[in-house]
Amino acid sequence: MQGQQSTPETTRFQQTDQSERPVGRSIKRGMLNRCPACGQGKLFRAFLKSVDECSACGERMDHQRADDFPPYIVVTIMGHLVLGGFMMTEMLLTLSNWGHLAIWVPITIIGSLALMQPVKGGVIGLQWALRMHGFGGHEDAPEDKLPATGPSA
Ligand SMILES: [Zn+2]
Repeated sequence: MQGQQSTPETTRFQQTDQSERPVGRSIKRGMLNRCPACGQGKLFRAFLKSVDECSACGERMDHQRADDFPPYIVVTIMGHLVLGGFMMTEMLLTLSNWGHLAIWVPITIIGSLALMQPVKGGVIGLQWALRMHGFGGHEDAPEDKLPATGPSA
């Protein structure tokens, strides 16, 4: 209790830019297809292709490593919606299997496609806010580790 408790800043990796990066605002901007840094430039140049750098503020976006995390999130969301919807429909109506297929397959496909870009944008915004994968001003390399002088767990 001598003021040695770590702050969020001390747990970050080789941080070079100390400016504030609010997580919620960054995720929201990413979900709205906006640059998480300035909120002005577009984040995507195609459906799931992010721009290399923001056209408004020049922040590099090629650091993002959303990889297959967005699909996992989309599957989780759509799985709950479709399964819940199917079970509620099944309680209220008597539909054939074909009837259910005709309802839920299109909803699953359309919903997944509709969610994919906002979810990926949110993941990129989160990575930017947390200074992951080079967003903190250093390259993402396997040798990136906690500083040797850092507190041991
Ligand atoms: Zn920007």
